[in-house]
Amino acid sequence: MVLDNDAGGIGLFRSEFIYLNSKTFPTEDQQFGIYKKVAEEMGGKKVIIRTLDIGADKQADYFNLPKEENPALGYRAIRICLMQRDIFKTQIRAILRAAAYGKVSIMFPMIISVSEVKDAKAILEECRKELIAEGKEIGEVEIGIMIETPAAVMLADELAEEVEFFSIGTNDLTQYTLAIDRQNPKLDPFYDSHHPAVLRMIEKTVQAGHRHNCWVGICGELGADTTLTETFLRMGLDELSVNPGGVLGLRKVIRELDLGSAKAPETPEPEPPKAEAPKTEAPKADEPKEEVKKSRFSFFGKGKK
Ligand code: PEP
Ligand code: MG
Repeated sequence: MVLDNDAGGIGLFRSEFIYLNSKTFPTEDQQFGIYKKVAEEMGGKKVIIRTLDIGADKQADYFNLPKEENPALGYRAIRICLMQRDIFKTQIRAILRAAAYGKVSIMFPMIISVSEVKDAKAILEECRKELIAEGKEIGEVEIGIMIETPAAVMLADELAEEVEFFSIGTNDLTQYTLAIDRQNPKLDPFYDSHHPAVLRMIEKTVQAGHRHNCWVGICGELGADTTLTETFLRMGLDELSVNPGGVLGLRKVIRELDLGSAKAPETPEPEPPKAEAPKTEAPKADEPKEEVKKSRFSFFGKGKK
């Protein structure tokens, strides 16, 4: 479906489905077989594999995850991977091996701190060395993280120093920014992914990423919302990842946009300060060092190198 719809690549390969469709932990070879097939079939187009994002709404019995009061705030995703490293290493080894057969990127979900990214990268490096020592063929992978927590947005400058790309998970970013359970249909009237706080989070992330030569995409559902496409392009987003069926429609909308003559971005302006702020010479951490180019969008993002 991805190729039939002429997508530029796969922006979000949800690897947890391999685990959810299995009765026990999928082995390295089983995972390698799947990732290799995808990488090969994509014929050189980029495949971004998100590492295991299990927990909360995605449960597999054999993980024996504890019952939690607040699963969305609980033991999930990268937290499981950093605590149960054998599971994580099995997956990373499979991804590194598959990267020898195509253009593979890896991204870590639910990041809230720089130390998590450093830890995950150290594990990746450990796997790389082990595989080389074992004489296994491996490929280079581009490394990125999902920006789907307000903490990650606030630390985006520091996080961008660690990775080559950001992929904004607007489904969770909306849930955590608005403190609204995305699983609770009763709250649907309040779950507003056009909320100015969410849009400003996205804009902040793009600006921080670009300050550090990190490309920035959206892989949450909001990327497919064509009422926001112009806003996203004006913010400088480099990539939008949508369901295969949405690719051509979105591309048409993008091609019909004229960013040169259309009016200014519709991102809401911050409210004016109530009292006069103290004067300071120091630049703010999130202030762009140079103006972010408005037209750097491509169907697939730019690499750091
Ligand atoms: C997201 O949170 O926006 C996302 C893409 O991940 P998931 O929907 O799988 O949590
Ligand atoms: Mg998510």
